[in-house]
Amino acid sequence: MIKNNDDVEIIVLDDVAVQTTTFAKKIARKLLKDSKLLAPPILLNDVFKTLDLKISVKGKDLGDDDGFCVNDKIIVYNNQKSRNRYRFTVAHELGHILLGHNSGSTPSKINLYSKNEVERNANSFAAELLAPITLLKKEKLGNMSITDLANKYEVSHDMMLWRLKECHLDLKVDSWK
Ligand SMILES: [Zn+2]
Repeated sequence: MIKNNDDVEIIVLDDVAVQTTTFAKKIARKLLKDSKLLAPPILLNDVFKTLDLKISVKGKDLGDDDGFCVNDKIIVYNNQKSRNRYRFTVAHELGHILLGHNSGSTPSKINLYSKNEVERNANSFAAELLAPITLLKKEKLGNMSITDLANKYEVSHDMMLWRLKECHLDLKVDSWK
């Protein structure tokens, strides 16, 4: 599914039930490596250029919902939300496609704290893609607030807070503002 032009071999599992967040993050890291993206913000246009797949990405007013994908070919995101928020939506939907989730085509709201396996894996993929742990670890977190980091990585404050907690880096930041 993903261009395989280096030494990391990715096996896309058919059985989504056996997928883990670790696997989802591994797919994201492979994509980052292929895209040669080494600094924030990770621009999704560059990520899509690296993919072999033809996926069109469209913005639309979806009311309260964040997004959905159609037949693994079209990603629709809510363009009425902030750019930093819908970037995560697009990455999350891309995760569903690359991880073979065949998820439904009805708009839904993304819940970072979802307990659903498929949602958790799509969130982990998106988080690793937009805020890679290797880059976060290089930041001078003691001099930065969550807002500084969210702006630098072009993600929402909520997402950055969640991500730092997930990486056990939250206590290192200077301020929770
Ligand atoms: Zn989802």
